[in-house]
Amino acid sequence: MRVLEHPLISQSIGTQRTLTSLHFGVAGARPKVMIQASLHADELPGMLVAHHLRLHLAEAEASGKLMGEVVLVPMANPIGLSQTVLRSQLGRFELASGENFNRLYPLFADWLTEADHPIAPQLGPDAATNVTTIRAAMHAALDRHPPTTELDSLRHHLMHLACDADVVLDLHCDFEAALHFYTEPPCADTLLPLAALMGARAVLLANGSGGRCFDEVLSGAWWQLRDKLAQSHGEAFVQAHPFPQGCASVTVELRGQADVRHDLAQADAAAIAAYLVHLGVVAGTPPALPPLACEPTPLAGTEVLTAPHSGVLTYLRLPGDDIAAGDVVAEVIHPVTGQTTPICASVNGVLYTRHIVRWATTGLDVGKVSGKHPLRSGYLLSA
Ligand SMILES: [Zn+2]
Repeated sequence: MRVLEHPLISQSIGTQRTLTSLHFGVAGARPKVMIQASLHADELPGMLVAHHLRLHLAEAEASGKLMGEVVLVPMANPIGLSQTVLRSQLGRFELASGENFNRLYPLFADWLTEADHPIAPQLGPDAATNVTTIRAAMHAALDRHPPTTELDSLRHHLMHLACDADVVLDLHCDFEAALHFYTEPPCADTLLPLAALMGARAVLLANGSGGRCFDEVLSGAWWQLRDKLAQSHGEAFVQAHPFPQGCASVTVELRGQADVRHDLAQADAAAIAAYLVHLGVVAGTPPALPPLACEPTPLAGTEVLTAPHSGVLTYLRLPGDDIAAGDVVAEVIHPVTGQTTPICASVNGVLYTRHIVRWATTGLDVGKVSGKHPLRSGYLLSA
């Protein structure tokens, strides 16, 4: 294992933060998998999974079974981890800018089609060569757009570590949740075996949810570049200069914020280790894949249940429960009048996440149910 330190831009004199990455296997070996934990710094289940996963990786490396390369970033957000305010850790948004740590990553398809740095003349008839060319161009594009703030330097380093990976796992969690995935449809075939191994209760698919999330810009780079080249150069050009979906990336929501337990993390790490064998990153007998614990559904089909008025929030259903249209998921109770309002689902699906607070403000997102049919359009994420 090699340990690399990536100093962030110092935001203020006298402070210096550093991102650390752990590298297993030979640099440049394929497949390359990049795994990071706790980009939202108050979402810690992934950090414990990374702790257990490094033991699997060290063992694979020591026994000569590591065929590919794994980059593990066990603590992806040293800025957010330091943001303790009034005894609460605030890890989702940077206090200096208000920006979400998991938004505003670069749109590589735009950078690779800039007028003064077009990728098109560098492409040829061989798909594998084109993949190598595009990955090199992504690194070069990052270098052409140097960061100017501490937060941007964090994003910049994470992108350099991930942009040439075949598979990227971004380990998050929700408030109170069943294990679920967010990914793009072109990545589904590659990632559904991991969803099966981890027992995901929802796999939510969207081609770009609108937030330029970490995982989305990595997989989106490939299909968006193909679309842009088809528009600018014609479909015949992309047929003659082919390249595949070069990266499958996913946000893995490892249940809820308080689900930081050895038994869960050890099982998740074992599932990821088995997936690395499935991918051929680690030599061995590929694991038998259990059946999926859910059918993938469109993210646009998710019903967001909201509180119609303020009051005490109490849930009648648990994360991971199958929900039928009409089921009461929660109630909001006015503590003075006693008015009790049921919050009902209108779709069939799985209640894959619910809130952690129990005082509902009007309009609060109370929970999400993975409906099968698109209901929503536009921006599909929460803040
Ligand atoms: Zn998150």
